[in-house]
Amino acid sequence: MERANSNPRHVDISLSRGVEITWADGHASKYPLDYLRRKCPCAVCTAAVEAPPEPPNPFPMYKPTLRLTNAETVGRYAVRLFWSDGHSTGLYSFDYLREICPCPLCRKTVTSEQ
Ligand SMILES: [Zn+2]
Ligand SMILES: [Zn+2]
Repeated sequence: MERANSNPRHVDISLSRGVEITWADGHASKYPLDYLRRKCPCAVCTAAVEAPPEPPNPFPMYKPTLRLTNAETVGRYAVRLFWSDGHSTGLYSFDYLREICPCPLCRKTVTSEQ
């Protein structure tokens, strides 16, 4: 596994818009908040993904907007996000973030989801 590409050159965290990272190799990644939350790598969220789907919501249009209340970098290897619903156990390592880059270029190589 080539690791050199997951060194961030510049990290820009916006509590309302999400995370933007420019990598050492020049690649730029933009992560919207809802995408980051869906990809939360913590044990709780990972387990939730494996749980059976919830029954259909009678009000599918209603979804509370999730925001960030705080964010911090952890050493030089990860970003920690604090969500408005109190969730803050997710530690997004730069390795992981590079892996889940949602840009069309990177998504082409991922077949496990749309
Ligand atoms: Zn989580
Ligand atoms: Zn990408």
